[in-house]
Amino acid sequence: MGILTGKTAVVTGSTSGIGLAYARAFAGAGANIVLNGMGAAADIEKERSAIETDFGVKAVHSPADMTRPAEIAGMIALGESTFGSVDVLVNNAGIQFVSPVEDFPIEKWDAIIAINLSSAFHGIRAAVPGMKKRGWGRIINTASAHSLVASPFKSAYVSAKHGIAGLTKTVALELATHKITCNCISPGYVWTPLVEKQIPDTMKARNLTKEQVIRDVLLQAQPTKEFVTSEQVAALALFLCGDDAAQITGTNLSIDGGWTAG
Ligand code: NAD
Repeated sequence: MGILTGKTAVVTGSTSGIGLAYARAFAGAGANIVLNGMGAAADIEKERSAIETDFGVKAVHSPADMTRPAEIAGMIALGESTFGSVDVLVNNAGIQFVSPVEDFPIEKWDAIIAINLSSAFHGIRAAVPGMKKRGWGRIINTASAHSLVASPFKSAYVSAKHGIAGLTKTVALELATHKITCNCISPGYVWTPLVEKQIPDTMKARNLTKEQVIRDVLLQAQPTKEFVTSEQVAALALFLCGDDAAQITGTNLSIDGGWTAG
């Protein structure tokens, strides 16, 4: 028996990176899983069936686009109709775009606010009635070190992540007496396929070795000079699902190698 046996977790943006690590950690603790996110159908099916065979739970994929509120509500409804409940909701889907503010494409601003911030509101809005009815729930939002500090050229991302931190606190207060916690996790640089893919281009563009790119470019802001791993982020999320974390709510938990300590 895992701590989530008999429960269902919906993880947005779980076809890749941190989201996939959350899904596999929750499945390892016994939860049935609603995967969500983009990608090639065959790749998604491979991850979905691996969760079932590796952990002996059930997993379905929702193709809900996080820019579309009705599809987000449909994703929650899929979890409830397939497995009987949505007990854990992780709002994790996210994109990035980097540009000076005066040139920032309006459609990129709108997409980042929709996917990185508004989708969490829509998911929470749809999942809370069922959680209240059952008297238990865990809502976890993936924020970022950028929910606490800014970097230049990331106006939309930093705004969305600061917004996630505010949404987390508000929802935590509203649900405090319902045995539903709401927290956000703020990673620094996490080793995901997205980050890994940037390395060869940066090596070429700056004439650096792989080690120099990692230390002097990517991890410049991270005092430990080491990446956070997706599995470390997922382990923290799993802790938040347990009884030991029942009194942790409304917090913003940093896992950033000391980035925001400075
Ligand atoms: P990733 O690119 O590996 O995964 C992003 C996921 O979001 C994918 O599954 C993708 O399909 C999904 N997605 C994107 N747009 C979507 C849409 N419109 N609808 C549905 N799904 C969509 O990225 P990651 O590094 O795993 O990032 C996950 C979260 O962690 C994001 O919120 C990101 O801001 C945050 N984060 C990442 C890092 C890092 O260094 N990688 C650091 C701090 C915070």
